[in-house]
Amino acid sequence: MTAYDYDLFVIGAGSGGVRAARIAAGYGARVAVAEEYRVGGTCVIRGCVPKKLLVYASHMAEEFEDAAGFGWQAGQAAVDWATLRDNVQNEVARLNGLYIQTLDKAGVDILPHRATFLDAHTLQVGDRQITARTILIATGARPAMPDCEGEALGFTSNEAFHLDTLPRRMIIAGGGYISTEFAGIFHGLGVEVTNLYRGDLILKGWDRDIRERIQAAYAAKGVRFHLNTVFRKIERQGETLLAHLKDGTTLETDAIMYAIGRKPNTRGLGLEAAGVTLGENEAVAVNAASQTNVPHIYAVGDVTDRVQLTPWRSGRDMPLPTPCSAASPGWPPMTPSRPPCSASRRPPASA
Ligand SMILES: Cc1cc2nc3c(=O)[nH]c(=O)nc-3n(C[C@H](O)[C@H](O)[C@H](O)COP(=O)(O)OP(=O)(O)OC[C@H]3O[C@@H](n4cnc5c(N)ncnc54)[C@H](O)[C@@H]3O)c2cc1C
Repeated sequence: MTAYDYDLFVIGAGSGGVRAARIAAGYGARVAVAEEYRVGGTCVIRGCVPKKLLVYASHMAEEFEDAAGFGWQAGQAAVDWATLRDNVQNEVARLNGLYIQTLDKAGVDILPHRATFLDAHTLQVGDRQITARTILIATGARPAMPDCEGEALGFTSNEAFHLDTLPRRMIIAGGGYISTEFAGIFHGLGVEVTNLYRGDLILKGWDRDIRERIQAAYAAKGVRFHLNTVFRKIERQGETLLAHLKDGTTLETDAIMYAIGRKPNTRGLGLEAAGVTLGENEAVAVNAASQTNVPHIYAVGDVTDRVQLTPWRSGRDMPLPTPCSAASPGWPPMTPSRPPCSASRRPPASA
């Protein structure tokens, strides 16, 4: 029988990978996880967690406004972005440390490198070649960029958490929950926000009455909407960015953020060498048990492009790797229905 270095090798220490690694190690499997950036993945490092902290910060603008009516005498309220940004990053660093501790305690080997397939059982991890009986692809997704000239002048949610200063004006492109949340965040922090969206009503796929209410409430608060168009070209003119749109309009702004979707992280993973096939949108194709066409290779999370939300990653679509699955025959299979979800908006759709 072939001796493998590990029973389970997990590529990517995000919501899906960390949980799978920890649980499998708890069943006695020899587990390693490779992470090319920071343990915790998108949700903890540059997604849900820092986003939520910024949402809290942005809410405070309204509290200050209301305070005077309740007799509070506060001076002119102003946000110090550098303090907010750095404190958010301190919290992210704390959680990153806790995730590392959790994996350490579970006996999972953490390899701080990019992993790529050399064949169906062998991975190149840093300068090592490592073999595993079962492999889990949990590499997540990355923000999509627009296809237009000058697109490098804008940034994505990855960079939004690290801005040097808050711009005076900002275009946020996209109509999903991430663009909506960031429009609320930056507007709350005092930025003049224009939400550019290719459709006519944001939050496609959500209940229509909620979408209408949120868009109207945002507009009433002062978020501008520029709808039914996309970028044609972006250029810099001195300190200003000019966003030339396909509807013929040109918008002047100081910063542009793209939140126009996320692409599964499958490029350069060596999936061809492993024989793993892709589905639509460059996602790893999996069956209901999160198994790829190569029986001992599984994939969970955003890399499968099913529902791009954390709880889905860390619980519902997590396979238990062989030999652990035999120990847990009742493990819930992935069900392809949509889980409940929410977006952190200001103003909220309901109280
Ligand atoms: C701004 C933002 C806000 C969000 N807010 C919410 C929210 O409020 N609620 C919610 O449920 N979801 C939210 N999400 C979505 C959530 O973050 C993702 O669904 C979840 O993190 C996906 O988990 P994952 O394990 O599939 O991938 P990730 O968490 O992205 O983890 C993948 C990891 O793999 C690593 N990696 C990639 N390739 C390799 C490689 N070859 N070798 C080694 N490591 C590799 C990456 O560095 C990354 O750490 C948000 C996302 C964003 C971007």
